Amino acid sequence: MPRLIFTHVTAILPDRLFEDAQVTCENGRVTAISRSTKKHPAGAQVIDGRGAYLSPGFIDIHVHGGAGADFMDGTAEAVRTSCRAHAKHGTTTLFPTTTTGSPAQIHAMLNATREVQKESRVANGARIAGVHLYGPFFAEDKVGCHSVEGRRSPTPAEYRAYFKSGIVRIATCAAELPGAAEFYAEAKKRRCLITCGHSNASWPEMAAAFKKGMRHVDHFWCAMSNVSSVRARCGVPMRGSMLEFVLGTADMSTEVIADGCHLAPELLDFAFRLKGPRKLCLVTDCNRALDQPPGRYRFGAESDGSWFESDGKVGWAPNGSLASSIVGMDHMVRQMKKDTSATLPEVIRMASLTPAELTGIARQTGSIAEGKSADLLLLNRKLEVRRVFIGGEELV
Ligand SMILES: [Zn+2]
Ligand SMILES: [Zn+2]
Repeated sequence: MPRLIFTHVTAILPDRLFEDAQVTCENGRVTAISRSTKKHPAGAQVIDGRGAYLSPGFIDIHVHGGAGADFMDGTAEAVRTSCRAHAKHGTTTLFPTTTTGSPAQIHAMLNATREVQKESRVANGARIAGVHLYGPFFAEDKVGCHSVEGRRSPTPAEYRAYFKSGIVRIATCAAELPGAAEFYAEAKKRRCLITCGHSNASWPEMAAAFKKGMRHVDHFWCAMSNVSSVRARCGVPMRGSMLEFVLGTADMSTEVIADGCHLAPELLDFAFRLKGPRKLCLVTDCNRALDQPPGRYRFGAESDGSWFESDGKVGWAPNGSLASSIVGMDHMVRQMKKDTSATLPEVIRMASLTPAELTGIARQTGSIAEGKSADLLLLNRKLEVRRVFIGGEELV
């Protein structure tokens, strides 16, 4: 692999913009960051950015599919299709995310994901850093757009088999379910990022989960508890919910779906101001309708996932609630920049370094830094993706 040099770029570093920067990559890694120079070593591939942004590749910890495929389709082809679609939107690392479904469907998804992960080819698109075991351990009253038949409480026999695959790196379970504490303990042993989602948990249940290692809540404000929903379940006195617990606990992180359809600007900015760029991630929560025409699609497995309608902007469940996003991480980045007080380095951090830190892969990727994988994006001044590099190799 020849030496790769990006010159005359505005490098987006975690804490600042570096104007007229030059970033050198060798053998798939970033080896130097400096001011742009006029002379370059013979044989190097030089890319003149002409002032474009050089951004770290995006990292998505919550994503279901794209370009017509859902990871839960359970085939290697569906995994490749989804990873490739998201790479075109700037995601260079992702965590394929399960929905509710049968154990056989979840095992098929884990196997297909592992098969593609092993192939390790840039043409496959975004790299797979591990699976997000998301469904099926959701609360019955908070399944959202997932099929309710596919949800259940955790049992060791079921989840141990998933963890045994070795590919699960993020583990979600609603904190109020029977068996949640044991699930969290097992996930902690496996060094997963432990999250609580699709849950109507109260503050005391969150506090108990926190003691077991739970540190993250999926898509803030969506399919999670609030004071009224906890009151409806637990009565009075009114209790704190997931919302207060996340905002009141410095070590808790969370994520937002910043597609402009799920959350209004004031909520995106509120989440940013209260949690800050080190504890808030951008996720796509994107389904198979990414880059597809408006129409009716399955959320989850093609065979029996729940139906939703894409209007070309977002997914809609039959009951009129939202059914996850249909856009890539580039869209989330532009929306967050437009809607909130976050600076560009802060926005990019929430889509790269922060999710890398939370999932334990920040030594390898997540920012433009010497020694890290050359997972890089050239973005124009409107933050549109122009070129994508994964491990120093361009995605074509
Ligand atoms: Zn969800
Ligand atoms: Zn989701």
